[in-house]
Amino acid sequence: MQNIISGLNQAHEHVPGKKRKLIGDRGDFFLNRMQGETGVNISACYQCERCTNACPVSHFMDIKPHQAIRYVQLGWREDLLKSSTIWICLSCEMCTTYCPNEVDVAEIIHHLRNMAVHSSITPKEKSLAVFHQTFLEVLRKSGRINELRLMNAYYLKPDILHERIKNNILKEDLLLGMALLRKGRLKLFTPKFRAIKEIKKAYSQTRGEIV
Ligand code: SF4
Ligand code: SF4
Repeated sequence: MQNIISGLNQAHEHVPGKKRKLIGDRGDFFLNRMQGETGVNISACYQCERCTNACPVSHFMDIKPHQAIRYVQLGWREDLLKSSTIWICLSCEMCTTYCPNEVDVAEIIHHLRNMAVHSSITPKEKSLAVFHQTFLEVLRKSGRINELRLMNAYYLKPDILHERIKNNILKEDLLLGMALLRKGRLKLFTPKFRAIKEIKKAYSQTRGEIV
C-alpha cells in the first residue's frame, strides 16, 4: 500500500499544479484501450518500482517507467505522449524482465511511442523522434539497416543538420563514421533483405507506423 501511495504522489510531482484525478473521474477508457491493443495486463501493476530500478536510463526520463504505468491506469494519455520517456526508452526490456507481475512495460512504452508519432503532439525529444521515424522508413524500404543510408536520411530531415552543426555534434558524427569505416564496421552498400515484401506487408499491418 505504501508503494501505491508513493507511486501516486511521485506521479503527481511531474504535473505541477495538476489536481489529482481518480481513475473513476476519467473512466477506464484509455486503460482498456491500451490493454486491448497490447494484450498487457496493466491493472496488475502494484507500483513496486522494480521496473524503474532496473531501467538503465530512468534517470533521464521525466516520467519513470512505474509512473508511466500508473499514468496509463489513470488515463493520462496526453502527459504520456508529451513525455521524454517514450523517446528516451531503449527498448532493452529490463523493466519487463524484472516485473514480478509480468507487466510488459517495454511494450507499453513502445505502443505509446507509436501513438505519439500519429498524434499532433510535438515530441519533447524532437531529434530522437525524427531518428525513430527515419529508422523505420529506412527499414521499410530495404528490410535492413545500412548505417550510412540511415544517417544520410536522418540529416536530410528538416532542421536536423542545422541542429547538429549548431550543437557541434556533426563533427563528432563524422569522426566516428570515419573511424568505423577504417575498421570495416560501416558498409557503403547493403543489399536489400530478401524477404522485403514480407517486411512491407508487416508494416502495413501495423497501426500505420510509417507516414
Ligand atoms: S515492476 Fe511491474 S508491478 Fe512493479 S511497478 Fe513496474 S510494472 Fe508495476
Ligand atoms: S525498455 Fe525502456 S523503460 Fe524498460 S528498462 Fe529498457 S530503457 Fe527502461
